[in-house]
Amino acid sequence: MQRSASSSRKVGIYSVGIGLVWAGLRSFGEEAVIRMGARATVRELSPEVRKGGFEEVQGGLAIHEALAEASRCLFCHDAPCVAGCPAGVDVPGFIRRLKTKNFIGAARLIREANVFAGICARVCPAEELCEKRCSSTNLSEPIAIAALQRFVADEEMKRGIRLPSPGAPTGKRVAVIGSGPAGLACAHELARRGHAVTIYESAQKPGGLLVRGIPRYRLPLAVAEAEIAAVLTSPAIEVRPGACVGRDVSIDDIRKSCHAVFLAPGLGYQSLLGIPGEDLVGVLPAGEFLQMTATGDRPRLSGKVAVIGGGNVAMDAACSALRCGAAEVVVLYRRSRDEMPAWKREYEFALAEGVRFEFLTTPVRFVGRDGRLAGIECVRTRLGEPDSSGRKRPEMIPGTGHMIEVHTAIVAAGQAPWPGIAGLFAGLALDGAGAIVVGNETRMTSVEGVFAGGDAVNGGATVVEAVAEGKRAAEAIDGYLR
Ligand SMILES: Cc1cc2nc3c(=O)[nH]c(=O)nc-3n(C[C@H](O)[C@H](O)[C@H](O)COP(=O)(O)OP(=O)(O)OC[C@H]3O[C@@H](n4cnc5c(N)ncnc54)[C@H](O)[C@@H]3O)c2cc1C
Ligand code: SF4
Repeated sequence: MQRSASSSRKVGIYSVGIGLVWAGLRSFGEEAVIRMGARATVRELSPEVRKGGFEEVQGGLAIHEALAEASRCLFCHDAPCVAGCPAGVDVPGFIRRLKTKNFIGAARLIREANVFAGICARVCPAEELCEKRCSSTNLSEPIAIAALQRFVADEEMKRGIRLPSPGAPTGKRVAVIGSGPAGLACAHELARRGHAVTIYESAQKPGGLLVRGIPRYRLPLAVAEAEIAAVLTSPAIEVRPGACVGRDVSIDDIRKSCHAVFLAPGLGYQSLLGIPGEDLVGVLPAGEFLQMTATGDRPRLSGKVAVIGGGNVAMDAACSALRCGAAEVVVLYRRSRDEMPAWKREYEFALAEGVRFEFLTTPVRFVGRDGRLAGIECVRTRLGEPDSSGRKRPEMIPGTGHMIEVHTAIVAAGQAPWPGIAGLFAGLALDGAGAIVVGNETRMTSVEGVFAGGDAVNGGATVVEAVAEGKRAAEAIDGYLR
């Protein structure tokens, strides 16, 4: 999709006198000229083309588009976009550098706050974070912050990412358990502060869901690997892949060799609905399916596929099923569209690719033929009183049983903390949902010297929140060790 010829044209130029307040805007400081124009359009593969494979759907901006978009920024003082970014990226600062064609300087400024600049530019729900708070919205449309971040991060990646060298050694060593974005961001920040870090990772490759969860059509493996490798080139960071703490490595050994621990094991998937027939061939847990598609070991699907669930993982499973050859994909969700936890953009993305939705429908039994899935017996639901999650409870409507013939079912029943987490440390406090409890300021768990962050603490959020929690924990650990 090309930007229209008029899109980068200035629509109006307004002189603003000192002290004049534009409704809803923050102070502009020295930027006394506001340029209004249409927001840069990010190129996207059409639904027909993109669902044929795992190629990245969104494209990057060309240099002239990035410069035109940067010139729309108001460079607000006390910029609200910065407060909207969990990692606290200096958005006006990097856009100013971009505007003067200092692309590498812009990327380095972003990486000061978020080492995964290129990854987050692709996967952040920016429309709900920095861009939602952008002052420019009051004049025309928010600045395309994520697209600008992607532009400079990609420019830097072409030349090779260079991160700051480790700080002067403190003689302290920290164990990081889990190498997802929370663990890696924490390790990076600790190394910058002079601490030696050992990362224990149960999988054979570091990266957590960056390499084993998020679909490749949103985050190409090369981008994830380049930014992960940049963190791991630090001489202060050692990684032990294939080392599952609690199974291959004992927590006692770790505590003897390290002065503090950061726990970032993420979440596991809930694979069971607890209904008959879940063991049939053709019933797949979404976690396993998405891990296979993300790592390139893609199953060949055919015929009709049902995805059960209404979260982002269900949307990713549905769109990935299409890319694996499914002729038709239907999402079965037991509540209505309004209660669906999936982000609006993920739902619309799936809808555009032809995924069908059957709301207020719940499966009660998987039905097999010769040991293989042949269909799902479903029942219609209606919404009753709110449950403990605050959402209306689905109630089955008697006499509405019906059969849906499918070749494959993918169960996306949500994510849950690893059941073994409580056994890792005696006295580790968990909340009612099994998430690790940490002090708001201290980021320490109930166990002295053991800190935690990421999905295992927040119950499952975003990459940028995991990064922010990893950084905050590193600051807290640094304070604890000094
Ligand atoms: C399918 C899917 C799509 C997503 N898409 C997006 C998106 O588009 N945008 C977005 O912002 N977020 C997305 N998310 C959420 C995002 O990926 C997570 O919030 C983020 O990865 C959490 O980071 P983390 O470091 O806490 O955990 P993880 O990334 O899960 O990493 C935890 C790591 O710890 C390791 N580990 C666990 N137990 C042990 C142990 N005992 N010993 C050693 N290692 C251990 C695991 O193997 C894993 O590598 C998505 C999530 C999923 C599941
Ligand atoms: S991106 Fe938006 S909020 Fe941030 S400095 Fe520019 S105009 Fe202001």
